[in-house]
Amino acid sequence: MNFKKILAILMIAVLCLLATACGGSTDTSSKAPSSAPDESVASGTSSETPTDPEADATLTVKVKKGEIEKFKSDRPYDKSKEDISLILVVGQSNFTTGVGFSSEYGGVVNGKIPQFSETPLVPAPGTCYSGGYRTAITQLSADRDMSKLCDASNLTNTLGGVTPSFGIKWNELTGTKVVFVQTAVGAVGVHEWTPNPNDYICECNENAALYQKAVDAYKTSYEALSKDYNIVYAGYLWNQGEHEEVFGKPGCASTVSSDASYYAAYKSMHDGFMKDLGLDFGGISVVRADKAGGTAENSMSLTTARNAQYKLCNDIDDLFMVSTMGETCAASAPLDMDKTNTIHYSQATFNKMGADCALNLYNCLGLAANNVEFGGIEVYSSAGLKLVGFDKDGKTADETVIAKGRLTDHILAKNAVLGTNYRINGFELKAADGTDLSDFVDDYGAFDWTSITAAKTVKKVAVKCVIE
Ligand SMILES: [Zn+2]
Repeated sequence: MNFKKILAILMIAVLCLLATACGGSTDTSSKAPSSAPDESVASGTSSETPTDPEADATLTVKVKKGEIEKFKSDRPYDKSKEDISLILVVGQSNFTTGVGFSSEYGGVVNGKIPQFSETPLVPAPGTCYSGGYRTAITQLSADRDMSKLCDASNLTNTLGGVTPSFGIKWNELTGTKVVFVQTAVGAVGVHEWTPNPNDYICECNENAALYQKAVDAYKTSYEALSKDYNIVYAGYLWNQGEHEEVFGKPGCASTVSSDASYYAAYKSMHDGFMKDLGLDFGGISVVRADKAGGTAENSMSLTTARNAQYKLCNDIDDLFMVSTMGETCAASAPLDMDKTNTIHYSQATFNKMGADCALNLYNCLGLAANNVEFGGIEVYSSAGLKLVGFDKDGKTADETVIAKGRLTDHILAKNAVLGTNYRINGFELKAADGTDLSDFVDDYGAFDWTSITAAKTVKKVAVKCVIE
């Protein structure tokens, strides 16, 4: 080998090293997370062929740009009367008034004078009122005033849960007296909340007619109170879905055992409440995944109830996601959950969750002086791990190429902040050669990998977001 040849080999070796150092590598783990020279990954139109050379397909999260309309009641208004909000409270145990505050029960039963580490917030006198358990409230009397009912120093049956803090915040925001009709019931399933519970079967073998009881209690309250007050805001608040983690697992014998069947059952309840009670809105405080484990990420795991609740709020104009606080609560964190179990939130959490629900509802209804700005989209795996986030323009600094294994079998795409009217508007999946695989990703974010794999070899998917 002569000197020239050796020099040429050395030069080629140096050039190869330089190319690698300058980013010519195909190693995905070292891909620079930047506001990407490759703009087409983060933005562009949905008809583009995927250009990320590392991915076999591109998943586009489509987002519908929304405007917020300021809510205005069309009920008759009498200036000589005071304004109230009449709120129906529905769902499972976490929205009853008796959980989250077990320390009182334990203290009183043991004959101690307890020093409670956490108590419900106490509304100011004359601002918030509550009916009894599943009964109508027909006058705003002193014995229904939550300044008295929520005072834990009485040491008996203190009204706890989410409504004290919701009431305080909603009263502060709207200036109305806030009146609750309490009809949530522990351990129940969404099938029992439908107008036609007898049409459902459930492995729980229970079938209570909760819907009708709630309608009766609310109607009686409305008819009585509307004589003396202007009912300026009428709506319901919902928190439920732990039941379906036990009795509504996919493949079980229950009627509600999928995203779509939970969705249909819930929608029948929502449509019924809106029509039968003339309500203005519904608000969901999204259920936390309870059975997955102890961490906050486990709380984010996807369940049929959670998938359906997100899509319901996407699809229905007068239904809003008003709190996702439960998703950040960990069963292993003693301050997040009640001391006696891992299903119920602690009263300290309820004291924050209620205010969160009120503020987000206020924003959703366009009542704030300034509308909340859209904060982008976040995409999570079924295990509750954040895969990628996109900003308000659909751009990202995150790694966007996701291994197939992390997209099994379901994803959740959600608004990064609550209170805007932006909606997830479906998913598009296209193979690198342009083959449209969108039929194999449903509107809840579930992937049919059997069909995808039969059509194309897909091992890595580039995720992008388009604001339409
Ligand atoms: Zn059931």
